[in-house]
Amino acid sequence: MRIGCPREIKPQEFRVGLAPAAAAEAVLRGHQVLVEAGAGLGAGFADEDYLAAGARIVPDAAAVFAEAELIVKVKEPQAPERALLRRGQVLFTYLHLAPDPAQTRELLASGVTAIAYETVTDARGGLPLLAPMSEVAGRLAPQVGAWALQKANGGRGVLLGGVPGVRPANVLIIGGGVVGAAAARVAVGMGANVTVMDRSLPRLSWLDDLFMGKLTTQHASAAATAELIQRADMVVGAVLVPGAAAPKLVSRAQLETMPRGAVLVDVAIDQGGCFETSRPTTHQDPIYEVDGVIHYCVANMPGAVARTSTQALGNATLPFLLALADKGWRRALAEDAHLRAGLATHEGQLTSPPVGEALGLAA
Ligand code: NAD
Repeated sequence: MRIGCPREIKPQEFRVGLAPAAAAEAVLRGHQVLVEAGAGLGAGFADEDYLAAGARIVPDAAAVFAEAELIVKVKEPQAPERALLRRGQVLFTYLHLAPDPAQTRELLASGVTAIAYETVTDARGGLPLLAPMSEVAGRLAPQVGAWALQKANGGRGVLLGGVPGVRPANVLIIGGGVVGAAAARVAVGMGANVTVMDRSLPRLSWLDDLFMGKLTTQHASAAATAELIQRADMVVGAVLVPGAAAPKLVSRAQLETMPRGAVLVDVAIDQGGCFETSRPTTHQDPIYEVDGVIHYCVANMPGAVARTSTQALGNATLPFLLALADKGWRRALAEDAHLRAGLATHEGQLTSPPVGEALGLAA
């Protein structure tokens, strides 16, 4: 099969859908791989790396979309890309159609068979193509929070790990899922005094076993949040209620009770944020201050580490990509209900009931 990988054109997106190692795997299986010139540069992969993997470099996106039977990307297709999609072609990427009627309409009009990373499932009920980005964002959270805690960035000038004779910082992580566990791992590793709060007792038990006394678990409640934020140097917001906006767990009035220069890292900002005072920021201008508390609310945190993120995403997408290429989409989906859960549009039909519900369309 001809697999095509265009350069991402969404602003501030530096990841790429196919790393050279993944391209090499596809070539080894007898597939042709076409990569747009410069597609990997943002993630530190040169055209020569793709050539060495056996891929072909083509000059522009138009050439990729014209030739490829299977397109692999990172972000949802932007308007100029959507104009290049066609019936009979398979698109494999993040789509996030529910809040995006224009994209949904144009994908349906193109007739493309679109498979969304974010709704592919696994045997444990997880979302295996979302989890790697949560891992990245979670591990990044204490790192960016530690930076924001530095005096020059408006923070209270506290070192996460302390030093002998000086207590470490208090880090409160609200939500102990994929992001929260990854954030806990790094915060514990940096020597902070970490508390993880979740409303799921099984999840707290799992974290307790995993960290063997290196952190404290706390059942989530408004009272516990109110108490713990008063001593927190950093609070990481990592909650998720599937299919819903993030609940607001810290109000503006509560900021008054926090130490001056404390830091809120709202990873859940892509779902609206879990602090009342959160608003989305960018990597160019990541932090702002409200009532003496520093907020970090970047909605696409993994973009900061595009190389790691590309490799992590590729590790997760590659088995599905190879199944699509080896078997063709029809057989690959028929044989794998988890991949089938990703099917969003096919030949003008919407095949995702939640998207249909969100947009008032038949699915
Ligand atoms: P997850 O489902 O693995 O974990 C969410 C956890 O939140 C669960 O353990 C759940 O029990 C807990 N929870 C739900 N409501 C709660 C409440 N009121 N109080 C305490 N705990 C509560 O989800 P995840 O993969 O860890 O993702 C967390 C959030 O991070 C999501 O909003 C996701 O979209 C976001 N995210 C953001 C970025 C970014 O770049 N900003 C990147 C990846 C993920």
